[in-house]
Amino acid sequence: MDWLGKTIHRQHHETPYFHISLDPPGLILSVMAAAALLFGLLFQWGALSLTATAAYYSAGLLYEWLHYVVHTHWVPPQGWLRSVRRHHMLHHCRNEDYWLSFTAPAVDAWFGTLPSSASSVPLTAMARKGHSATASGSSSRAGLASVAAAGDARDVREEAVAVTAGAAAARR
Ligand SMILES: [Zn+2]
Ligand SMILES: [Zn+2]
Repeated sequence: MDWLGKTIHRQHHETPYFHISLDPPGLILSVMAAAALLFGLLFQWGALSLTATAAYYSAGLLYEWLHYVVHTHWVPPQGWLRSVRRHHMLHHCRNEDYWLSFTAPAVDAWFGTLPSSASSVPLTAMARKGHSATASGSSSRAGLASVAAAGDARDVREEAVAVTAGAAAARR
């Protein structure tokens, strides 16, 4: 039997590309309760426990929001969020064994999970499955193509190539 995290991760990948997903409420509530308990015990239920718990909840909320944002059609014009989006979309659209880090793409370089390009790693069955479940695949590709055409957007072109390859494979 898969452990819970692995099952949730698989389900997240099976939902369509650009499907907006958040972790299940039961899991979020359990993690929140565990964090409150841990910080409570650690800081003897004082003001620091509340501060630490609130900071942890805020970080979690920020993470969920960012994950939501990168799974929409919006391509950030530049900067860190744009690299986070490209990184996470290649994880979904090309190969889920690479581009594993979410908020810090550079971390993958340390673990050998940052390929030199999307085409240097194989398209996986899971990426294919995500594409075949995607109803909005063509509009996603059109959106990416227009951003890529608008300027020097090598990162977006690479993402669009991964999406197109996956969608073509899913149709076969
Ligand atoms: Zn995701
Ligand atoms: Zn994943």
